[in-house]
Parts: sequence; structure tokens; C-alpha cells
Amino acid sequence: MDLGIRGRTAIVCAASKGLGRACARALAREGVDVTITARGKDALAQTADEIRKEFGVRVTAVEGDIATEAGRTAALAACPEPDILINNAGGPPVGAFRDWRRDDWLKTIDANMLAPIEMIRLTVDAMIARRFGRIVNITSYSVKVPVADLSLSNGARAGLTGFVAGVARDVALHNVTINNLLPGPFETDRMVINTAKRAAAAGKTPQQMRAEAEAQSPARRWGAASEFGDACAFLCSAQAGYIVGQNLVVDGGIARTLM
Ligand code: NAP
Repeated sequence: MDLGIRGRTAIVCAASKGLGRACARALAREGVDVTITARGKDALAQTADEIRKEFGVRVTAVEGDIATEAGRTAALAACPEPDILINNAGGPPVGAFRDWRRDDWLKTIDANMLAPIEMIRLTVDAMIARRFGRIVNITSYSVKVPVADLSLSNGARAGLTGFVAGVARDVALHNVTINNLLPGPFETDRMVINTAKRAAAAGKTPQQMRAEAEAQSPARRWGAASEFGDACAFLCSAQAGYIVGQNLVVDGGIARTLM
């Protein structure tokens, strides 16, 4: 299926590794020129190189922290009027809510709520003017099924989800869509690190912990990042213009909700 976005431009935030990288790869495969960001220079340069070689599109690597104004300014300087925006940032740490202080909350709100809101504010009007825009926010399946040791994430992402629910309905008439994509467990660095932490706390090995988690999943496995990237590319397609303000869970069925 041709997704109808060849020649479009995208900013993919936090995309040197993991789910952001997978989204950038899937868009590049569809012929989209991508600007990718991350804080660490080496992995970013390597990912940019790989995507360029594999898909032959224009790839611009922008080093910076997307949770800061400087990071966002740098991304937008490289691609001032993207057709597609993928909002993403590293997730907050797991842990007990009694351990989090105001600074922990502010860091999480900056990265996982205010950064995407700012990126939307700074790009959406040019999309409206061109009558095409696709914005996807990477959040978490825990928005639908809050996870106790992810209280920072539960709080900040709920705020972003509420914001999107309103503004998505405000811009849809211009063929600009805003949706959230909610990952369940995917095989990425973050997942491996979090599983090791949870295993240590439970006195288990990471392998045991993973096997137990997979056994609970209807799909009986963690997802491959490329599966997430493919879902993202579809939400960014020309054909997806009628999908507005949704929270699409991609989790192998773990979130046992009716909707
Ligand atoms: P990951 O494997 O740790 O990759 C994170 C990527 O984002 C890296 O490229 C990292 O590069 C970049 N990054 C992190 N913070 C950044 C920042 N402030 N500014 C710019 N770049 C930044 O993480 P992931 O598993 O792909 O997770 C992506 C998001 O999905 C997170 O918010 C996570 O909580 C959420 N999520 C993931 C899963 C899962 O199973 N993987 C499940 C639910 C939710 P640098 O460190 O070099 O900046």
C-alpha cells in the first residue's frame, strides 16, 4: 500500500534508538525526508547514516534535548515547517510515588507533556495553512491501564492526552490530524533496563521477569520496534485523514480494555 507521503518532511523527536528510531525508519521507507533528534551524538549520527543508506531520503540529525527550548529551536531550525511531527522523549524512571519530589515531576512534565505541546504549537499553523499535517505523540499503554510503578508517566501522559483530545478536534477540518500511539512492551533499551530494575526489586533474573511478562501477554511476546514504526507510518499516511484524536494501543493485547 502506498501511504501517499513520498516527498513529505518529518521531524521525529528522540529517534536515535528504540521506538522513535523505528518511526523514522518507517517514514523514510515511505519516502519521507526526516529530521531526527537525540541528545547523544554518536548513536544519532549512526542512525542517520543507516536510514540515509537504506532508504535514500534526506536525513538531518539534530543533537539536542527536546525537553528544552534550545533542543526544540534546533529541531525547528533544521525543519521549520514539517508535514509530519512525531513527538517522543525518553520515559521517566520507574519507582515508588513516595520517592518522587517536585523536581522529578517537573522534569517528567517538561519531557513528556510540555515538549510535545510546544512542538505542536510551533508547527500546527503551517500545517493548517498547507492543508496537510500528521502529528503522532508516542505515549504509553499505561495511559489506558495505569501501571503503579510508573506514576510519573501516568500523570504527565494523562495531561498530554487531555490536551490532544481538545486540540485534535480543533484542527481536523484542515486535514491536520493529531493522535497518540500507545506502546505496550517493545524490545528497546528502555524496556531492557526497566525489566532489569524490576527483576532486581523482585529478586528475579531479567530473563525470568521477561518470561513472566510475556506469559501474561495475549500475544505471548514483546513487540518488535518495527511493528510500532509501521503503525506510526500508517497514522501519518494520506489515507489516515479521518483518524482524529485517537489513542491507538499497540501492545499485543495487554491492555484489557473494551475500548
Ligand atoms: P529508548 O530505547 O530508551 O530510546 C529513547 C530515545 O530517545 C533515544 O534515541 C534517546 O537518545 C532519545 N531521547 C531520550 N530523551 C530525549 C530527550 N529529552 N531529547 C531528545 N532525545 C531523547 O526508549 P523507547 O523504549 O524507544 O521509549 C520511547 C518512549 O516510549 C518513552 O517515552 C517510553 O517511556 C515510551 N514507552 C516505551 C515502551 C517500550 O516498551 N519500549 C512502553 C511504553 C512506553 P538520547 O538518550 O541520546 O537522547
